[in-house]
Parts: sequence; C-alpha cells; structure tokens
Amino acid sequence: MTTISNTPILVTGGAGYIGSHTVRLLASQGRKVVVLDNLVFGHDQAIVDPGVELVVGDVGDQNLVRSLFAKHGFGAVVHFAAYAYVGESVTDPLKYYQNNTAEPIKLLQVMQEFGCKVFVFSSTCATYGVPDKLPITESNGQNPINPYGRSKLMVEWILKDCDHAWGLRSACLRYFNASGCSPDGKIGEDHNPETHLIPRVMMAVTGEIDHLDVFGTDYATPDGTCIRDYIHVEDLADAHARALDHLVAGGESVRCNLGTGVGVSVKEIIAAVEEVTGKPVPVKYAPRREGDPDSLVADPSLARQLLGWEASRKDVRDMVRPAWLWVSGPNQGRFPENRVNP
Ligand code: UDP
Repeated sequence: MTTISNTPILVTGGAGYIGSHTVRLLASQGRKVVVLDNLVFGHDQAIVDPGVELVVGDVGDQNLVRSLFAKHGFGAVVHFAAYAYVGESVTDPLKYYQNNTAEPIKLLQVMQEFGCKVFVFSSTCATYGVPDKLPITESNGQNPINPYGRSKLMVEWILKDCDHAWGLRSACLRYFNASGCSPDGKIGEDHNPETHLIPRVMMAVTGEIDHLDVFGTDYATPDGTCIRDYIHVEDLADAHARALDHLVAGGESVRCNLGTGVGVSVKEIIAAVEEVTGKPVPVKYAPRREGDPDSLVADPSLARQLLGWEASRKDVRDMVRPAWLWVSGPNQGRFPENRVNP
C-alpha cells in the first residue's frame, strides 16, 4: 500500500539552496526521494544523503522525466527548479517565462500522463508585487511587478486550472526571504552571482567584497531601509514536508505564505551580523534598487491553519548564526566547485 512515508517523490531543483535543505529533511524522515537538477545553479555536493539519487537533467526533458516516472512511480512532485534573479528577469524575460513557466508545463504533462496528482510548488511573495496592505495575507491582490513574479504567478494559475480539469492537487508555497542554513554547516547558500542581503553582508565581513551597498535609506520605514520577512530555510523545508503529507493524504489544494510575520530592516540585519560575527560591516549608502517595495511582511496564519506549520525561528540572529558558520567554516560559504582553492 502506498502511504505518506513510502510515496516516491520527485524533487526538481533539489540541488539548489531551498531544494537541498528540503531533500535533506525528507530523506531524514525516511522518504524515497529522487532529485532532478540540471546543476546550472544547483550543486551535486548539496545532496549529502547517500540514499538520495541525483539525476542530472532538465525538467522540460519529457523523455527523461517519463523514464523516471516509469522507473520510480512517483506519487508526488516537489518543484523547486527555477531562475530567481529579479533584475535578470526584467532584462531577459523570455528566459524566465521559458524556464519558470513553460518547463513546468512539460513536467505537468508527464504527471498527467502518469496519473500523478500531487504537486508542491515554490511560489514567492513576489507574486504580490507592491502589497495593498500589510501584513500580507493570501487575500492580498497578486500584482507582480517583474517577470520573475509573473512567471511564478502564471504557474499558480495553471495549477488551479489543472486541479479543476484533472484533479491535480497542489500547494503553492509563497516564500518570503529564505535565509540561514543547516546548523551542521554541511550545506548552505551558494549562489553565483550572489545578490541576497545576508550573504552579501557576510561577504563584506570576510572581505570578499569591499563593502555592502545599502540600497536606499529613504524608504517609509522607521530607519529608512527596506523591511523584509526573513524565514529560515529549514522552516521552509518543514513546510514542504507538511504540504506533501497534507496532499498525499488527500487534502485539497492550498496556497499560503511562508514567513515569520516579523519584519526586519536592512540596518537591523547589518546589526545582527555584527553582533553574531563580532566584526564591523563596512557599508556605503547607495541609491534605491529598482523595484524594491518598502516592506514585505507575511501574515503566516493560513499556513498554521491549513498545514499546522509555523516558523520555529523568528529571531533573525538564529538565521545569521548558521549562515556565519557556513561562511567562516571549512566550506568558506561555497561548495568545492565554487571555491577559489577547492
Ligand atoms: N539589499 C541591500 N544590499 C544588497 C542586497 C540587498 O541593501 O547588497 C536590500 C534590498 O534592497 C532589499 C533587502 O536588502 O531591500 C533584501 O534583498 P534581497 O535581495 O536579499 O531579497 P529580496 O527581498 O529582494 O527578494
């Protein structure tokens, strides 16, 4: 009999930052996991559990995906594989619509062929655009302001239509700002290029970059810098496991925010990094970055109600500490392939 724990799961993009932490959690729960990742941004070294098979390939390669379905009989798909550079999505939108919207359609076609009707989807708070009210609830308007957000929102719509048409049940998990890493320092955040705030603050501390540019100090926030909701990557992973349990047990489709509900400014992040590392962060105040809303903070109550999920860490220092361990430890914040001295 297929149960929640022995349902084979296909995880696309499972060698990436959020994907690899989720794969590790799912494997530790004894679930059967196969990762499909083209390693464009993922790292094979991010798959640390020997029982997890990594298949290198594209989500849109239907013959490959068919062969994996035929071999493993997946009961669920967790789909992380996507591009996530907002600025690049503005200058090269077709790349984003192709990879983030068109490729998942090909995956969904294969799922339909094989009668697989559970899909957990990495969505984003970028689907809300500039929020019409704070904190952001799932009933806020979804008006994304860049192609990245639109490429994700379109998949949310597609999933809803597939639910109606052929009973695909999905969880659209709208992440706020993923941060932190596994506390044992084995896996962590390694983007190339790195644009995210916390890793860049760390890079300024270690001297990898000369200073941190603080993008804008004239926002309508108490200290003038942007406020975001930083959510620990292991809490995100936990939400995926719960969403899988919910859907595999026959639960209805869900769409929910994954955040802490706590807003933290750029200046507060810098202060937290200085406290955790004991080192000063060299900063320069720079103009605003295009497309950054003042504040993005989740109301996470629906996820609690539907999935029994809540962030276990709400103090941003609990995210900064493991991130510093990853950066200052033997990995130097990089998987071997990206290290200057591997
Ligand atoms: N930010 C910054 N300097 C940087 C990177 C980011 O001041 O080098 C700011 C950015 O303007 C935003 C916040 O930090 O207000 C979080 O940015 P990040 O790129 O980490 O995530 P986003 O909220 O854009 O997804």
